[in-house]
Amino acid sequence: MSFIDSHAHLVLEPFQNDRDKVINEAFSSEITHIIQSCDNLDEIKQNLVLTEKYNNLYSSVGIHPHEASLWDDVSKITILEHSKKEKVIAIGETGLDFFYNYSPKEIQLKVFREQIKISKECSLPLIIHCRDAFNEALQILKEEKTEIPGVFHCFTGSLDNAKEALKLGFYISWSGILTFKNAKDLKEVAQEIPLEKTLIETDSPFLTPIPFRGKRNEPKFVKYVAEELAKIKNLNVEEVGQITSENTKKVFNIN
Ligand SMILES: [Zn+2]
Repeated sequence: MSFIDSHAHLVLEPFQNDRDKVINEAFSSEITHIIQSCDNLDEIKQNLVLTEKYNNLYSSVGIHPHEASLWDDVSKITILEHSKKEKVIAIGETGLDFFYNYSPKEIQLKVFREQIKISKECSLPLIIHCRDAFNEALQILKEEKTEIPGVFHCFTGSLDNAKEALKLGFYISWSGILTFKNAKDLKEVAQEIPLEKTLIETDSPFLTPIPFRGKRNEPKFVKYVAEELAKIKNLNVEEVGQITSENTKKVFNIN
């Protein structure tokens, strides 16, 4: 069996004492690749240190909607510069989060549009974080005529939202939330989404799947997301691992 963790944050503080151990454990178990997500332009430097150290570890570059207020005159140039690096495979994570609103709405909207434009300019897919803002995010993607399919990571929208995203060429990524007992609606959405348009992720250190909910999440736990998806879709877990891995490689253009 093999899996790809399509979204992790391994430079964050919860990994400061055992980061390499966690990554080595993942790669020596069933995890073949890890995609590191980037939240801000300080973090990209730390992400790149990891990508240099591990063959099958890649990174995105971008600014998270929570941190959209950090956007300044040089952000675009900095993102574009990093986008040319070999192990940088996506723009993000970007998007909209109207649940927390850690950055003002207007700024989130502007910074999302800017990063969509960058993704078109450098021909890299988008990693989209979206919470309580699916109509707005989908509308903006349409207006900006996004050409390169990306992924809605840690999907929490409705079936209609998911269908709209698929129409735009986007993939849907499931996190540990899918394993939660109260995620009935999400499980119903997952059932309807073709496996060929599906990715799986941990979003480590967050959103730890059952049976480890409450503990720190790690890339190797992505298999519990795969097991849940297999159960929902009545498939075997090997197939879920294989197809979601192929999808991830296709979206991010990696081998
Ligand atoms: Zn993330």
